[in-house]
Amino acid sequence: MFQEVPNQVGCCDFCENQNVFIKEFEDPFGVHVMNGCFYGCGDKRNETEKG
Ligand SMILES: [Zn+2]
Repeated sequence: MFQEVPNQVGCCDFCENQNVFIKEFEDPFGVHVMNGCFYGCGDKRNETEKG
C-alpha cells in the first residue's frame, strides 16, 4: 500500500538541502542508512512551501 508521494521532510544526505521532501534509503537488509531528496537532488519539487 505504499504510495509514491512525499510524506517526510528532512535533510538530504547527498546534497546540502534542508527542509526538503525526502525518502529513506535502506540497505539490502532493510536498515535505514540515508535520506535523499524525494524527486532527486536538484529538483525543485523537493522544496517545501517554505521557500
Ligand atoms: Zn538531495
